[in-house]
Amino acid sequence: MDTFQALVLDNIGDQKNLGVKQLSTNDLPDGEVTIKVAYSSVNYKDGLVGIKHQMVKSYPIIPGIDLSGTVLESTDERYKEGDEVIVTSYMLGTGHSGGFSEVARVPAEWVVPLPEGLSLKESMILGTAGLTAALSIVKLENIGLKPDDGPVLVAGATGGVGSIAVNMLAGRGYEVVASTGKTDQEDYLRRLGAKEIIHRNEIIDTDSRPTREKKWAAAIDPVGGKTLQYILSTLKYGGSVATCGLAGGVEVATTVIPFIARNINWLGIDSVMYPMEKRLEAWSRLGDDLKPSALNEEMVTEVSLTELPEVLGRILEGKVRGRTLVKL
Ligand code: NDP
Repeated sequence: MDTFQALVLDNIGDQKNLGVKQLSTNDLPDGEVTIKVAYSSVNYKDGLVGIKHQMVKSYPIIPGIDLSGTVLESTDERYKEGDEVIVTSYMLGTGHSGGFSEVARVPAEWVVPLPEGLSLKESMILGTAGLTAALSIVKLENIGLKPDDGPVLVAGATGGVGSIAVNMLAGRGYEVVASTGKTDQEDYLRRLGAKEIIHRNEIIDTDSRPTREKKWAAAIDPVGGKTLQYILSTLKYGGSVATCGLAGGVEVATTVIPFIARNINWLGIDSVMYPMEKRLEAWSRLGDDLKPSALNEEMVTEVSLTELPEVLGRILEGKVRGRTLVKL
């Protein structure tokens, strides 16, 4: 594999260019583990990198915050040729060339051995979105959430994090209410396990009351902004929201009232710097009790490297459904 194909984001004379190029292993960054990539996947952050050029530390870079594949060579004794591995998070695809490439080279500290119960393909249907949904559910359950506490709201439900969260929660016996802006995706969300579908506009805050009708035992929120504002004001007494994204905005207006009058919990979720020991535990559970039932065609669109620039544009517009798998 001396030469291979990759999607490269370049900056020549202040002109950014995103396109498929033929590279050699000399073009890859330093790292102990070289991997023949089998699959990558598309996340919202890849759109921010590839289209908006945010978070890019230097050029040229291969975007792609997720990859799974087989070790080609390793100077770290923990890995040997042929090992099946996953790499996500840290600087992958932002400050260090990532997964939109037939070959990748990464620091050994970032590598996760493929857990039992997952194939390389399944691990990338999950990818960062699946890890984030899992971390959200684990944190909510660690604070005491149980299926009989009442409805759990998932915002941005047809997106990557949202689709997996709906399916995982339903599989664990929760009553899931899915919020979406895609009115034609009701059947899809029901097939994933949602009991009720509501329109995104219903949960975007239009007034600024800090508390109102108590509705949700918990929520998983990849949207943020005025959606999160609404969620904080409608959690039941003792309810919790896992904040994991900003697809709808970053500014949230609230007051101390729901916290001190309703005992609610605002939980932060970060997959990027999540500690390795707990990360391994989360991946192990993703292959076991947290494994979603819908890791199939229902949730997945498969694309090639050349189709990626178009998909990266669409994910920023909130137009992608479920998970987009990149086959290398
Ligand atoms: P997707 O684009 O797949 O999903 C986002 C979904 O949010 C969309 O499909 C849409 O769903 C909804 N949405 C989009 N725009 C708006 C809007 N303006 N107002 C309300 N809803 C909107 O992205 P991902 O699932 O990959 O990521 C979701 C978010 O989570 C991103 O902000 C991402 O950065 C963040 N994230 C954070 C991680 C962490 O470590 N904390 C890790 C992974 C992701 P619908 O049409 O159904 O409403």
